Amino acid sequence: MLRVHNTMTRTKEPFEPAGDPVTMYVCGPTVYNYIHIGNGRADVVFDVIRRYLSYSGHRVRFVKNITDVDDRIIERSAAEGRPFSAVGQSYTEAYLEDQRALNVTPPDFAPKASEHIPEMISMIETLIENGHAYASGGDVYFDIRASDDYCKLSGHSVDELRAGARVEPDERKRDPLDFALWKASKEGEPWWDSPWGRGRPGWHIECSAMSTAYLGDTIDIHGGGHDLIFPHHENEIQQAEKATGTVPFVRYWLHNGWLTIDQEKMSKSLGNTVTVRDLLQHYHPMILRFFLLNTHYRKPLDFNHQALDEATEGYLRIFNAYHQARRVLGLLDAARWPFDGDDDLVDAVEALDAAFDAAMDDDFNTREAIAAVFEFTRSLNERIESLSRHGLASAMTAYELIDNVLGILAPVPHDEAALEGRALEREAARARRDFRASDAIRDSLAAEGVMLQDAKGYTRIVLTRLPPTEAR
Ligand SMILES: [Zn+2]
Repeated sequence: MLRVHNTMTRTKEPFEPAGDPVTMYVCGPTVYNYIHIGNGRADVVFDVIRRYLSYSGHRVRFVKNITDVDDRIIERSAAEGRPFSAVGQSYTEAYLEDQRALNVTPPDFAPKASEHIPEMISMIETLIENGHAYASGGDVYFDIRASDDYCKLSGHSVDELRAGARVEPDERKRDPLDFALWKASKEGEPWWDSPWGRGRPGWHIECSAMSTAYLGDTIDIHGGGHDLIFPHHENEIQQAEKATGTVPFVRYWLHNGWLTIDQEKMSKSLGNTVTVRDLLQHYHPMILRFFLLNTHYRKPLDFNHQALDEATEGYLRIFNAYHQARRVLGLLDAARWPFDGDDDLVDAVEALDAAFDAAMDDDFNTREAIAAVFEFTRSLNERIESLSRHGLASAMTAYELIDNVLGILAPVPHDEAALEGRALEREAARARRDFRASDAIRDSLAAEGVMLQDAKGYTRIVLTRLPPTEAR
């Protein structure tokens, strides 16, 4: 039985979707720059959550929007001297490349804000009609004083927020907490026609409008980073619930934890923003993905190079064991595997399946799920020489089944037939006691990150590193 932590109730609840399919919305990127590793964490976390729901037998309808109308894109367009739409287009493409690299399954729908302005205008009109929003000098604001449940998600005190709110000199709002649904466009800014004149939507309205347009008035899961709880998700709730009259807008709110860099919050002012793109120059994307999943999604995660090195080591243990099972099956077929065991590994496979499901059912605990994979890897490595063909095949199947959820397995980046050939050459050189030749082969492969280990009757091939992918 799957249980999920709901930010709204602050408890772990049994997951009971309203119907079929499960409906899920995650806030996507604002395309004004390359995505950073914190965005990458949310992408990977919600990808795995979605994959696990499918793995557990649910159909899932998954929407992740693209925010291509935003102040930061306007600023970027001025800074780069490119049209607003060209900036959005190029960073959208870069984002999609990063998603592919991280093995994130594309959403069923990836609506762009710029293509859903009519839905937003219509939702804003409804909010004005039913007394929850007002037009003011070409802008439209949500009227916080007309709501009695603002901050029900974040638990903030409205009075304290109001006391601490900054009041701008050219204020068109009735209350400092009122937020913009629509903004009049300034000279040179992109604009759309609206009942309130030329302007553009505020940020929050797009998610309420697109979520209800694609998934209905109430959805099962809404996800995003912890930093989105206030004000973004709080405002999404107000807009959607006051416009549709349906409560709740979202049945389960899921938020992933902070990502820090060397224990510091990532911020532009500290200059410590790390983009996914930069990291992929140094790390294989599946190692990054593994690193992001090797912590429970709600926990804070510190990014530093030592942690990445540790992740690399852990990742390669799983990677090597999977490929070892695959290779040994090939050697068996070629009558080059010297063992003839009858261990079918049933107990270890059953233990893995049970532990994996239990971990994932416990609020998608990927860290525990990966621990189960390590445990399985240990028993596989210990027993590889006594396994039957069936045992080897079921080990591979076990890894592959789980990888439908984790999505971390990568192919061997080398020409495997050539590697086998080199290993055989080295065995032959050793047999004729030509240790110079055998050492030369071992050393040249070691320089490529391939270690040849002498085991009883065969040569084990172990990768000691996985190079970052080629420039894309
Ligand atoms: Zn959103």
